[in-house]
Amino acid sequence: MTTGPARSTAAPAPSSAYLRGRAALVTGGGSGIGRACAVALAEAGATVHVADVDGAAAERVAAAVGGVAHVVDLADAAAVATLPTAVDILVNNAGLQHVAPLTAFPPERFALMQRVMVTAPFLLIRQTLPHMYDRGWGRVVNMSSVHGLRASAYKSAYVAAKHALEGLSKVTAVEGAPYGVTSNCVSPGYVRTPLVEGQIQDQAAAHGMSAEDVLSEVLLARSPVKRLIEPAEVAAAALWLCGPHSGHVTGISLPLDGGWGAS
Ligand code: NAD
Repeated sequence: MTTGPARSTAAPAPSSAYLRGRAALVTGGGSGIGRACAVALAEAGATVHVADVDGAAAERVAAAVGGVAHVVDLADAAAVATLPTAVDILVNNAGLQHVAPLTAFPPERFALMQRVMVTAPFLLIRQTLPHMYDRGWGRVVNMSSVHGLRASAYKSAYVAAKHALEGLSKVTAVEGAPYGVTSNCVSPGYVRTPLVEGQIQDQAAAHGMSAEDVLSEVLLARSPVKRLIEPAEVAAAALWLCGPHSGHVTGISLPLDGGWGAS
């Protein structure tokens, strides 16, 4: 009987710079989850393009991660067309919220939110896929939400936009698969960012409650884990979807919801 070195069937452990040579575009990269994604992708070796309507914030983050800032209003299709197309990783993250009952929801605000959170991701996917297809590798990460999977009162535009993003992501997964391109949603519950700090104030006004009660009794009412998620935890999930062990993961929505969906 001969003996030899044991052959492992496990995939190799990722090196810390496994995204070296890859270019990434992160929308809404100037703040919150987008900023955390830019940091995580840069730490893994990617060159990161930080796109945000807030130019100063985009510059700050780009400087911190050694990336490139792009000042862009994603509601403007012509401006979206100026963003770099030769990217291997696209993180559709920019978003905004408006809280109001359907009967009082401003139609122009509804339309703006669809432009930023649905049309811009569509345009960016459309204009970056040719490069990913040429390289035979690409990663599209769409920042959805638990509200891409379920509804809450007063969030008609947001829930509609995130459900649309989930559908767009699935179509991208189906079309991209033959070219080595995956597309997935990351779907967090409430994350500790300026967007949520603003929502706590809005919900407090809408419900006539204190900010503390809104956090425990409204925002986290359906979450068994009673804490806000940190932006770095969301970024870690986005990074994993771009890593060496997730090529078979596509067309999914990855909930980071503290058990909300299970309860
Ligand atoms: P944030 O407000 O901290 O950051 C959003 C960024 O998007 C800002 O830098 C803002 O300037 C940018 N942005 C907004 N409108 C833009 C436009 N028209 N053009 C270009 N940039 C624009 O928000 P966040 O909490 O980090 O949210 C990021 C994403 O994560 C959003 O899509 C949001 O829906 C999603 N999300 C957030 C939470 C949460 O609890 N914070 C939960 C689930 C999903």
